[in-house]
Amino acid sequence: MAASEAVTDALRELHARYAGVRGGRRADYIPQLARSDPDAFGIALVSMDGHCYSAGAADAAFTLQSVSKPFVYALALSTLGLDEVSRWVGAEPSGEAFNAISLEPRTGRPANAMVNAGAIVTTALVPDRAAVPAFTAVLSCLSRFAGRRLDVDEDVYRSEASTGDRNRALAYLLRSTGTLPVDPVAAVDTYFRQCAVRATAVDLAVMAATLAHGGVNPVTGETVVSTEVAAQVLSVMATCGMYDASGEWLLRVGLPAKSGVSGGLIAAGPARFGLATYSTPLDAAGTSVRGSAAIGALSERLGLHLMRNP
Ligand code: GLN
Repeated sequence: MAASEAVTDALRELHARYAGVRGGRRADYIPQLARSDPDAFGIALVSMDGHCYSAGAADAAFTLQSVSKPFVYALALSTLGLDEVSRWVGAEPSGEAFNAISLEPRTGRPANAMVNAGAIVTTALVPDRAAVPAFTAVLSCLSRFAGRRLDVDEDVYRSEASTGDRNRALAYLLRSTGTLPVDPVAAVDTYFRQCAVRATAVDLAVMAATLAHGGVNPVTGETVVSTEVAAQVLSVMATCGMYDASGEWLLRVGLPAKSGVSGGLIAAGPARFGLATYSTPLDAAGTSVRGSAAIGALSERLGLHLMRNP
């Protein structure tokens, strides 16, 4: 990673450069998300020695939404292994929007764990036991990635639960093709709760840094998942994390990444850093406009593209 001052300067400059950008729209299909502050803009980077650099609203809390997906995929992989998880969910880019009503024609599986259909299956793979209910396991895993106890924004949860018929439809479709191992209503309820877990850009940067650091949280030192699982998750983020914009993102920015409709965006530089931004106005693919501009510019400025010969 570049020297500390260079990172701090870069984050401050990018924050100043993109804070005034006015493009994009807040998600409103989850009504509560349309109430977010469109001007809040935070950026955070966590290095492999656990140092955190930030600028702007890096401590503002918001819900994870789809940024939760790679981490719950990590939990499923840790619990069941890649072969068993792959029986239920694929690892091919779908080339479609995050909420597409679409499954692989031959297998009936969702294309990957980053689109909603695949994330609902991934969540359903987390064991639901009396002693440890599925959501307890999910929340504890997300918290270990963040290095602190996270909680649920109940207003956002209720807002999505009362309007989320498309995801419920997806869950019933999955059940009909035999690719959902549990009750559709229960699966979607756990998924909505997972999406409503609240964190800050700093938390997200620690979570991304944990994946980049081979599954070991660089702030707490805790091993959250194995090196293999961290590599598997980063691979699927690289090919599928930005939905139908994944190819273009890898080409231009060159980092595994995951977007969310509440305005969160993470990117990871394996063995180097975790990066996160928060800004709610989104582009057509559901990616934060300021976030993608800032991460793209940072990648260019610090030479972070993974395919680049340093
Ligand atoms: N909870 C959201 C949904 O299922 C997450 C989507 C996203 O962040 N892209 O629609």
